[in-house]
Amino acid sequence: MIHRVAIHGAAGRMGRAIVGVLREREGAMLSAAVERADSTSLGLDAGTLAGGPPAGVPLTADLAAAVAGCDVLVDFSAPDAVVDALDACAAAARAAVVGTTGLHAAAIAAADRLAAVAPVVVAPNFSQGVTLLLHLAARAAELLGPGFDAEIVEMHHRHKVDAPSGTAMALARAVGAAKGLSEEAFVFGRSGQVGARPQAQIGVMTLRGGDVVGEHTLTLAAPGEIVALTHRATDRAIFARGAVRAAEWIVGRPAGRYDMSDVMGLAS
Ligand code: NAD
Repeated sequence: MIHRVAIHGAAGRMGRAIVGVLREREGAMLSAAVERADSTSLGLDAGTLAGGPPAGVPLTADLAAAVAGCDVLVDFSAPDAVVDALDACAAAARAAVVGTTGLHAAAIAAADRLAAVAPVVVAPNFSQGVTLLLHLAARAAELLGPGFDAEIVEMHHRHKVDAPSGTAMALARAVGAAKGLSEEAFVFGRSGQVGARPQAQIGVMTLRGGDVVGEHTLTLAAPGEIVALTHRATDRAIFARGAVRAAEWIVGRPAGRYDMSDVMGLAS
């Protein structure tokens, strides 16, 4: 069965990347491309806008019609826009995949309303590699125990304005949970006479420069040995591929809220 995928935020960077990924998939097809009512892209072909051949799907502001004609809505828009998208899905009992980040309370409440009647995947990072890294990091920290010091280093391009990255924080929380350490144990820089490293500490360090898409390394170090787990992103298309994998996975699932570890079968 070919799943019909509607994209909300279709003219954005991620929306266009998803149009590109759907072009290569056999199990899913683009059924609608939704944009803001005041978008200058309305009426343009979604495939052409994404830099490929025409998809035969014009950009529209008609969210209700797009939801009615899809099996799953993929949202990469903006926090306020997510509420309308999820409520439209709830009204039609349609599945949704939400990639928009910075969700506020109203958006989270809309996801909960939808989860009561249909399946919804919400993930701040759709990279399959990062999802695996988070899983392996927690397992490694748990297996190696308190005798291994955990240090996290992330690097991103020079334009990134926040630090550390959300993924580095997720990594620190995953390792912290496995070690029984709260966020009070995180240290975000060291300089001067900081003293010997206490065991109950997780270092989270940030590098910035060039055009690095995203690198995260967890180092677990004990006397005599070091284990390092690294994820290196080289292409932003990884998020689009992960979101399309989630869209293909979620159709037909029971109502409820899922994350990327469910999609990849990593949830315990
Ligand atoms: P973008 O600004 O390029 O695209 C957002 C699009 O949504 C724009 O075209 C905008 O016009 C559209 N939009 C805004 N309001 C709308 C509305 N009411 N109805 C329909 N469309 C609307 O941004 P982007 O880089 O594509 O990122 C979008 C979101 O996805 C951001 O929150 C970003 O942080 C997040 N993101 C998540 C992941 C992940 O893996 N989860 C990866 C990359 C980006």
